[in-house]
Amino acid sequence: NFRCRSAFKLLEIDDKFRLLRPGYSVVDCGAAPGAWSQVAVERVNSAGEDPESPQGTVIGIDLLNIPPLDGAHFLSCHDVTDPTTHAKLLDLLPGGQAHVILSDMAPNASGFRDMDQEKLITMCLTLTDLAERILKPGGSLLCKYWDGILANKLQERLSSVFGSVRILKPNASRKDSAEKYFLARVYRKPGKGS
Ligand code: SAM
Repeated sequence: NFRCRSAFKLLEIDDKFRLLRPGYSVVDCGAAPGAWSQVAVERVNSAGEDPESPQGTVIGIDLLNIPPLDGAHFLSCHDVTDPTTHAKLLDLLPGGQAHVILSDMAPNASGFRDMDQEKLITMCLTLTDLAERILKPGGSLLCKYWDGILANKLQERLSSVFGSVRILKPNASRKDSAEKYFLARVYRKPGKGS
């Protein structure tokens, strides 16, 4: 039983691309009420349900309160874009590193489409800073955005640090919404001078 229907989008994407594997460390940005974290806990075995497989880690972050979940560590009332949150993540992650960053974050809609889109893209751009601090080389980032003019800028930024970037529109996402996901894989830490 999932806390919200958004779980089906992540299940669909993960069934196809196998991002979440037993033993992996996952950061779930914009995690409330916790449905994506439920999927992640199951797939990385962070509650230790399968004693034969390695046990992963799931850390969820949200501005709102996230009700407790076995196998997940939640940072409720935390802003993903705030560098002090990044520092806490470094402490909580085994070895200070994550295999996967998930983001289903969305700002409160103002009703002005372009403004909301820009706000979400700006939030997504900060995820590349977070990636630089915590993502393992070879790691992945899945992030929701709203399609519009600035989406190109985000795609370019992702393409400069990930080996592959693709655009996903899960079947479980409403056809009439501008919501899409970037799946960026094979993270390369920006080297000196780049
Ligand atoms: N994936 C979640 C699930 O399956 O339960 C649903 C996420 S909901 C669509 C988007 C969430 O992003 C909201 O709970 C909102 O509070 C959160 N959010 C928006 N801006 C944020 C920020 N700067 N830092 C942390 N969370 C944020």
